[in-house]
Amino acid sequence: MSQIVVIGAGLTGLAACRELEQLGVNYTLIEVKPRLGGSIQTTRQDGFVFDNAAFDHEKNSNWPFLDALEMNEAEVLRHVGKCRDGALVVFRDGTDTLVTALSKTLKHTVMTRMAVSSIGFVDDRRLGICLENGLMLETRGIVAALPARYAEHMLRSLSIDAAFRLLDYEYDPTIRVSLGCHRRDLNTFDIDRAHERAAVAGAPLKFLQLYTHAELPERIPAEHVMLRVGLRLSEMIQPANALEFVIRVLENLPPLAHVVGWWPEGDPLTRDFPEHSANMDALDALLPPNVAIAGSDYRARGLNDQVEQGRAAARKVAANIG
Ligand SMILES: Cc1cc2nc3c(=O)[nH]c(=O)nc-3n(C[C@H](O)[C@H](O)[C@H](O)COP(=O)(O)OP(=O)(O)OC[C@H]3O[C@@H](n4cnc5c(N)ncnc54)[C@H](O)[C@@H]3O)c2cc1C
Repeated sequence: MSQIVVIGAGLTGLAACRELEQLGVNYTLIEVKPRLGGSIQTTRQDGFVFDNAAFDHEKNSNWPFLDALEMNEAEVLRHVGKCRDGALVVFRDGTDTLVTALSKTLKHTVMTRMAVSSIGFVDDRRLGICLENGLMLETRGIVAALPARYAEHMLRSLSIDAAFRLLDYEYDPTIRVSLGCHRRDLNTFDIDRAHERAAVAGAPLKFLQLYTHAELPERIPAEHVMLRVGLRLSEMIQPANALEFVIRVLENLPPLAHVVGWWPEGDPLTRDFPEHSANMDALDALLPPNVAIAGSDYRARGLNDQVEQGRAAARKVAANIG
C-alpha cells in the first residue's frame, strides 16, 4: 500500500510527488492520460516547437523550483515581453522541459491511463480509491491535483459538502491553434485584419500572437515565424474545423506545420468569482487532514504557485498520515 496517492500528473501533482520523494514518503501517482504534464503539452514538428496549451508565463518573482531542478534560468527561459508586474517568459525548448525535469526525479509508482472515479473512507486511518476500471487501492493520504470538474465527482463519497463547494465549476473551453509558416508568406498578413475577419465571421479570436525566429531561435527555424491563435469552443468552432477557420482568417497564409489542441477545462472562470476564495477556505476545512486538493482551478496562479501549492499539499498530507 502506498502511503499517499497523488491524483493528476499536471504540474501541481508532479510537484507534490517530488516533495514526497524528498520527504521519503512512498506514493503512487495516478493519471488518466497516457502522458504526464496535464495542460502542459509540447509538440515538435519540422523544426518548430509548439506548446499546445501553457506557453507564456508571467514571472513576477523568483522561481526557486528551477534551481531545485538544476535548471539555469538564463539557459532555459526566454523573455518575450512584459506583464503587469514582471516579465513574460517562455521555456526555450518548450514548457514540457519542466515536466521532463520533474518526472525524472520521481522514483515511485506512476500509473497512467487510469481514471480515479471516487474516494472514500475505509476506516479512520485508511482511504479507498476506486478507479474507473474497477480496481481499488487503499492509502493513508490523498493529494487531489485535478480539475475541479472531476474533483467534484470524486469527492462525493468522501464528503458531499466538500464536493458541493465545487459544484458547477465553470470553464471557457478553448482551442489553441499553432502554425509554423515561412516569413515570406507573411507579406499580406495583418493581425488587426485577422481579428476583424474572425469577428465578422462570428468567432472572435481570444488572441493572435506572432513570434519570429529572432525571438525564439530554438523553437522557430530561420526565416520562419510561429503564429498562436486562441479560439473559444462553440457550435461554429470545433476542433475538427478550427485549423481551416484560422487559415481562412489569416487570408490563406499557408502553414508548413501546425497543431490544434482542444481543452474543455481551458480558462477556469469560477476561480475569478469574488466568492471563490472563501469557498476554497470552506472546502479545505471540510476535507479530512489526510486529504488535500491543489492546482490551478483552486488557488494557484502561475507556475511558481502551482509548484508551491503542490508541495504544500504534499507536506500537509504527509504530516497527517499517522
Ligand atoms: C489551453 C490552456 C492554455 C494555457 N496557457 C497558459 C499560459 O500560456 N501560461 C500559463 O502560465 N498558464 C497557462 N495555462 C494554465 C496552466 O497550464 C495550468 O494552470 C497548469 O498547467 C495546471 O496545472 P495543474 O497540475 O493544476 O492541472 P492540470 O494541468 O489540469 O493537471 C491535472 C491532471 O489531472 C488529470 N486528471 C483529470 N481527471 C483525472 C482522474 N479522474 N483521474 C486521474 N487523473 C485525472 C488530467 O489528465 C491532468 O493531467 C493554460 C491552460 C490551458 C488549458
